[in-house]
Amino acid sequence: MANKSHLIKPLLGATYPEVAYGKGIYLYDSDGNRYLDGASGAVTANIGHGVTEIIQAMKEQAEKISFVYRSQFTNRPAEELAEKLAQIAPGDLDYVFFVNSGSEAMETALKIAIQYWQEIGKPQKNRVISRWTSYHGITLGALSMSGHVLRRNRFSSLLADYPAVSPPYCYQCPFYETYPSCGMKCANELETAIQRIGPENVAAFIFEPIIGAAGGAIVPPEPYYAKIKEICDRYDVLLIADEVMTGFGRTGKNFAMEHWNVEPDIMALGKGLSGGYTPIGATMVSARIIDTIERGSKVIMSGHTLSGNPQSAAVALAVLDYMNLHQPGENAANLESFVEHELRTIASHYPVVGDIRGKGLLWGLELVTNPETKESFPIHTFVTERTVKKCFEKGLIVYPAVGGINGTSGDAIIIAPPLTISKEEMKMLMKILEEAIAEISHDLD
Ligand code: PLP
Repeated sequence: MANKSHLIKPLLGATYPEVAYGKGIYLYDSDGNRYLDGASGAVTANIGHGVTEIIQAMKEQAEKISFVYRSQFTNRPAEELAEKLAQIAPGDLDYVFFVNSGSEAMETALKIAIQYWQEIGKPQKNRVISRWTSYHGITLGALSMSGHVLRRNRFSSLLADYPAVSPPYCYQCPFYETYPSCGMKCANELETAIQRIGPENVAAFIFEPIIGAAGGAIVPPEPYYAKIKEICDRYDVLLIADEVMTGFGRTGKNFAMEHWNVEPDIMALGKGLSGGYTPIGATMVSARIIDTIERGSKVIMSGHTLSGNPQSAAVALAVLDYMNLHQPGENAANLESFVEHELRTIASHYPVVGDIRGKGLLWGLELVTNPETKESFPIHTFVTERTVKKCFEKGLIVYPAVGGINGTSGDAIIIAPPLTISKEEMKMLMKILEEAIAEISHDLD
């Protein structure tokens, strides 16, 4: 037992290479192997690895102060970060509550929505509606709102009984219809759900603008969010956008909801906020909600010991400054059509790739047994895991996603390299990906 690791890993008993360092889009392990980070880790390292300016900012802040408790002091990095976020956030999302992860950002969003209705004298408006095929985080509140069956199953008895509606998943339409003749039944289902539960009981609708880990970069039909907004407005239901994966240029705009010109009331952020350089998340809240709470109880009943600590805030601030200077989101937008073309070419050569979809530098490939019937592989064949492994062995990191309707079957991988990737590097990524898909296709034959 002498050499047994004490670190609990994602898969107990499995071995993982030990990372030594990272630079740009590459990671290097302690044996000197190089990996092209085609997934930005978990769609997080948006500005790539080892950026000197961020390391410098980390050191400078550490020499001043790393931690203060938020009910004793405010701090300059947190103040400046909040101000800059308010400047770039859509609509009147003017206020920021800092947390340490995307899950916490979603928990806080949920609590603020419920508190808002309490403050205006409607405490019964406390249920949130989410969607199947969604992921909002691993803590119990966030998991309650997540339609990711695989991650929920073990804890279902502890989860809040929140209703979920069908996702806007055109490739595997839950209604077996086709857009636009379907009339967007998926959006209409939200109205039916609100009516069934009673609008007086519904606090918010919660969604990922582009479905990430639970589906593999599923982009809704163009008018979907306008319709969702209209329904929520009609029944006085808040819109909570989970931009944890899609924020900070990932889809070619600062925030994905800008593609549809729909402004949420609350927005959750994580991942790209620090590009992985430090743990930090944020919940952005509209002026209307904060003004109401300020006139009422004045206290947001949430928070963590390390919320808004100056060390994490200074790092995220440096990341925002870096993005402001280099505009990696523009690079993502510019590369979008090239990536789409390359992925479509791969799909045309290998029928196992049933669908490709995405925006900016967030792309999903859904893998199916038969492109005509769109039938998924049986769950025990582990096609997603095998594809991820195959890529990894070839030095390419891709992210596993569950493609099936309830997260119980279906296979998809996500391609989401750092937004700073060049076209040449992207060609290299595609070359390795194609080799891996070719081998997987052959293995599955
Ligand atoms: N929301 C979305 C859309 C995510 O993709 C994730 C993580 O993958 C989360 C929330 C949870 O974030 P974290 O893992 O930082 O808690």
